[in-house]
Amino acid sequence: MDRRDFLKLSLSLSAAAFLESPGFRFISQAAAADSPVGQPPLPYSRDALEPYISGRTLEFHYGKHHQTYVDNIRKLIIGTEYAGLSLKEIILKSSGNPNQTAVFNNAAQSFNHEFYWKSMKSGGGGEPKGRIGQAIDKSFGSHAQFEKEFSEAALTQFGSGWAWLVQDGTVLKVIKTANADTPMTRGWVPLLTLDVWEHAYYLDYQNRRGDYIRAYLDHLINWSFAESNLAG
Ligand code: MN
Repeated sequence: MDRRDFLKLSLSLSAAAFLESPGFRFISQAAAADSPVGQPPLPYSRDALEPYISGRTLEFHYGKHHQTYVDNIRKLIIGTEYAGLSLKEIILKSSGNPNQTAVFNNAAQSFNHEFYWKSMKSGGGGEPKGRIGQAIDKSFGSHAQFEKEFSEAALTQFGSGWAWLVQDGTVLKVIKTANADTPMTRGWVPLLTLDVWEHAYYLDYQNRRGDYIRAYLDHLINWSFAESNLAG
């Protein structure tokens, strides 16, 4: 390790230690109290999605994973150009900037998880009716074709990521994104999402991602939330 690398390493280590210190926690809590960025409550009780997603999974997924992304972004934006902005504004401003990957990743993961909780409900799934049902038929030809494309996207996302139903102008389509990436950076309107990071399903399904996707399609999708996101 040369001197420059050593300096870089010790700077990043002391920054990390500072972020964990009680003093910083005090400052960050005071500054973050004004931030519009936070973790909204789950839109249902922790065991509401059983038996398809267990209370234990939501305890970790909402209570640890999602919470950590929110805590991180609240700390990262203090005293920066991002302070006071909404999650969406932070995502759009930091997107594509190689010096801002921590800001982007934590903001996008905060947004994606909030969106994922709302994409599900107890007694959901199945065939959509009304305006969203018509939009699915118009864009995919049938609900079965939508399910086929969505399952394929969710299954073939290699490693961590997300499957999405999005609106692109007047057309609905299925896409997948890797890691923290989120459709709004490409100008698409998200309608529904499924988290396919292993932490989303491992406790309930272990390696059987396909069974988790099937449970989402058959029992969990909140179609009225998707419809409420339709633009135009
Ligand atoms: Mn997750």
